[in-house]
Amino acid sequence: MPAVVTAAERASFARCRRQWDFGARVRQNLEPCQGPRNPEARPGPADFDRAIRDALAVYYFPGMWDWDDAVRLPLVGQELNRALARQEQGQEQGAGRAEGQALLDRYIHWAPTVDRFAPVLVETDFEVTVLGQDGAAVTAGGEPVRYAGRIDLMAVDAHDAYWIVRHRVVEGDWPPTEDLVADEEALAACWAWEQFYLGMGITGTVYNELRRAPAPGPARRPWRPRRAWLRRHLPRVRQHEPSGGGRSIPQHRRMYARAREPARAGAIEQRTYDGFRRTWLRRAPEDITAAGRRLGADIAEMVRPDLAVYPEPSDRHCPPCPYLEPCLALREGRDAEAILRSGYRQRPPDGPEEGRLGGRSWAMGRGAAPPKFRRPGG
Ligand code: SF4
Repeated sequence: MPAVVTAAERASFARCRRQWDFGARVRQNLEPCQGPRNPEARPGPADFDRAIRDALAVYYFPGMWDWDDAVRLPLVGQELNRALARQEQGQEQGAGRAEGQALLDRYIHWAPTVDRFAPVLVETDFEVTVLGQDGAAVTAGGEPVRYAGRIDLMAVDAHDAYWIVRHRVVEGDWPPTEDLVADEEALAACWAWEQFYLGMGITGTVYNELRRAPAPGPARRPWRPRRAWLRRHLPRVRQHEPSGGGRSIPQHRRMYARAREPARAGAIEQRTYDGFRRTWLRRAPEDITAAGRRLGADIAEMVRPDLAVYPEPSDRHCPPCPYLEPCLALREGRDAEAILRSGYRQRPPDGPEEGRLGGRSWAMGRGAAPPKFRRPGG
């Protein structure tokens, strides 16, 4: 059985080794739960960012990309409601629906002015073998180690170049562009995808950011261009254009399908408009290769039999840490066993998520059957 390390676990390892040790599947694999110690424990508030990403997965669902907007767009709002209802099971309905609907409403007016791509896959998982210095990385018990992650959207542009698109809901100010450039998880995803679909080169990452905080001043509805304007000013990449040989994933695996570089291509292109920001970051092939090497080195460290595990306290990471209580007990020299037994449980294996778009069971290309949309609460 291969040992699987997820992108979230790698990030946790970089933050604090003890946090990673509590939660990682290859370590104690614990998650907080309702129990005798915390009978009032309830699931946290609905994850707004997750719900918006679920709705955007419907907006960019490849099988519906060329459908008439009158049919396609109402499904986006339905998915938002469904995603929030899924998260709020047994809880009071939050205010996320109205806020999310308003945000999506403005987004789908703005997005056609900047979407210079066609979607190929949404919400797709990948899992690849990790390479160490001397071949595949293995645990102390000789099991191979695999790296798993998920991409929000794989898109192809008018030059047949492939981009990994990340949707993000931003609270407050835009993060510095340098943070996007240094996004290790995104670089690792570029490397991993090239291993997952051999022969398919990734040109870079597109950050699609939606700001949650209202922009100062009266809310403006973005200008929505007419189709004729879009045809003149934006090279919209349609699903059925022959340049990429159709838009279903098998065609994208052809070894001879190569991107045609545009005449002028900047390393970073960024456009901001009233609460939305779109950033195209080209990644050099050597940077992607180096990210794969760094991932291998991190994972070799994680599976070292003599790995030292220690707390790395910080004002930023400790307050929201789900293992704060047992960690404090250990730091004060107390026994944390009783806390762990009563307030935590073994994380169950990942199963298929009902109603989730993407994954590997869906055909995604043109002509793919659209998902079955149930009514919220249905
Ligand atoms: S509380 Fe802080 S030091 Fe302890 S595990 Fe969590 S992040 Fe690490």
